[in-house]
Amino acid sequence: MFYLDFQKANCKNCYKCLRSCPVKAIDMRNSQAKIIESRCILCGHCTHVCPQNAKSVHNDAAAVLKLLKTKTVIASVAPAFVSSFGLTSFEPFRAALKKLGFSDAYETSEGAAVVTAEYKKLLASGKYENFITSACPAVNRAIQLYHHDVLKYLAPVDSPMVAHAKILRERFKNASVVFIGPCIAKKREAAESGIIAGALTFEEVAELFENNGVKPVAVNPEMHESKKATVAAVSDTEEPGEEKIAAKFYPISRGIIKSFDAFPGGYEYIAVDGVSRLSQALEDLKNVKGVFLEINACEGACVNGPCAIQRSGGNVEANVRVRNYTNGAPLDVVREHPSVAVERKPLTPGDRIPTDDEVAEVLARTGKRGKCDELNCGACGYNSCREKAWAVVNGYAEVEMCVPYMREKAESMGNVVIENSPNGIIVCDKALKITEINRRAEALVGAARPEYIFDCFDPTAVFKAAENGVQSRVDALKIEKSGKYVDMNIVPLAGENALLIVLIDVTDKVNYDAELDKVKRGTFEVTDSVIEKQMRVAQEIASLLGETTAETKIALLKLKDAIK
Ligand code: SF4
Ligand code: SF4
Ligand code: SF4
Repeated sequence: MFYLDFQKANCKNCYKCLRSCPVKAIDMRNSQAKIIESRCILCGHCTHVCPQNAKSVHNDAAAVLKLLKTKTVIASVAPAFVSSFGLTSFEPFRAALKKLGFSDAYETSEGAAVVTAEYKKLLASGKYENFITSACPAVNRAIQLYHHDVLKYLAPVDSPMVAHAKILRERFKNASVVFIGPCIAKKREAAESGIIAGALTFEEVAELFENNGVKPVAVNPEMHESKKATVAAVSDTEEPGEEKIAAKFYPISRGIIKSFDAFPGGYEYIAVDGVSRLSQALEDLKNVKGVFLEINACEGACVNGPCAIQRSGGNVEANVRVRNYTNGAPLDVVREHPSVAVERKPLTPGDRIPTDDEVAEVLARTGKRGKCDELNCGACGYNSCREKAWAVVNGYAEVEMCVPYMREKAESMGNVVIENSPNGIIVCDKALKITEINRRAEALVGAARPEYIFDCFDPTAVFKAAENGVQSRVDALKIEKSGKYVDMNIVPLAGENALLIVLIDVTDKVNYDAELDKVKRGTFEVTDSVIEKQMRVAQEIASLLGETTAETKIALLKLKDAIK
């Protein structure tokens, strides 16, 4: 199943996505980025950094619209809606969804409250050396695929989305549940849950609103205040034992920790967000004890999710909106609910660890025969030359992605071409200082490693080309030192502040032309004297015979011109 990929036409093969991917789940062969589904944790980070905006997210909108026509569908809405849609309460959003055809809509924070309550119970049990929260499906997947050592710390608790779906399906027996949020990873989690009919991103919902002329409009803050008062009154009638939790904090950084009213002892409560810090945080956890780790794959947590709608105030505004909304709203009440326990099993990405020989063979193909040749520069998108060799062996990358190697190769190929050119090639800067000269050019100018153009030949034409930046040509330029003649092409290299001078040896041609000219001249002189003689003889005969000497003279002069 495809959840996320890159559009063909847009990808410019810059490796930025690969560089930012924490688990190297991108196949870069044939100059086209492609997600490796079995490795990808769907954090969406690559889509954020792509300068070509080449992201292509699986769109569930059509399937959901179809479902709305045939079934009772309840929406579970992630609390980040306040920041994405610039709202201060849930009612307008709920009303807009109903206009689209949803039977009703509830906030996923209802499920998050149950999840927090479960976390508290598990922490109080004292069974966990360390504890990792499980609300972010991208993080859960990363641990299950790549960090088996810390899997035992991952809370065996459903995510808020799945917990809420369980609650809703129990409440509305025949209804389908569709999740709405800022996340791509939730699409796969929803599909795998077996109880969620689809997951729409905020971007998809905004498009549906737009296409259907629906607009969730913010209600005025006083209305929100009065609702608060009503709910506070209602909360007096709660059943004993019901817990109230600020689960609407979940979508911001440290939001899960903020949702706790009391902290079970024995733990330091730490939050880490952003995929770039994910692996290190999980590695560090192996060496410590008594840490409660809240991890989100997105920097700034879900309000900054890959399909959140960014507002002009960015992450700061998003945070403020969620804080205001949560501080102002009634707490989520944890009532009786179905079990939200889940088993998190280890997964394997499906590729293999290459042997040392395979790695060495790939490294050798990019000229890396010893440790000192491994630059680990990261230009290929991988963190090290060995990591890239792993990708090549697994068929995810091409040897040619090694930028320093390709540059070296291009340079050495360029050098071979230049050195073996039958023409003289000189590169000089605008001060006419020579920076490159091939052997053929040295022979033509009659100097080894000359420093300036004027050490070689009359520099006038080169000066002019440097000054006006226009390509020019000089035919049969004589080089005094070598006695050679060259046709000279001067090409200013735009943006390089340099000139390329190509010298074509035309000495033989010039000498041949001179020789031919000499022969022609000799022939003409002989012919001329013969004609002169003939004319004189003809005139003498004509004067004796009284014939028309004028006609003979004209004919002979024409013959002379023709020879000329
Ligand atoms: S970031 Fe990745 S998908 Fe985007 S243009 Fe660069 S290589 Fe292509
Ligand atoms: S979504 Fe995340 S894990 Fe998947 S390819 Fe992109 S950056 Fe890598
Ligand atoms: S030297 Fe080549 S293979 Fe190594 S990290 Fe740099 S680009 Fe990648």
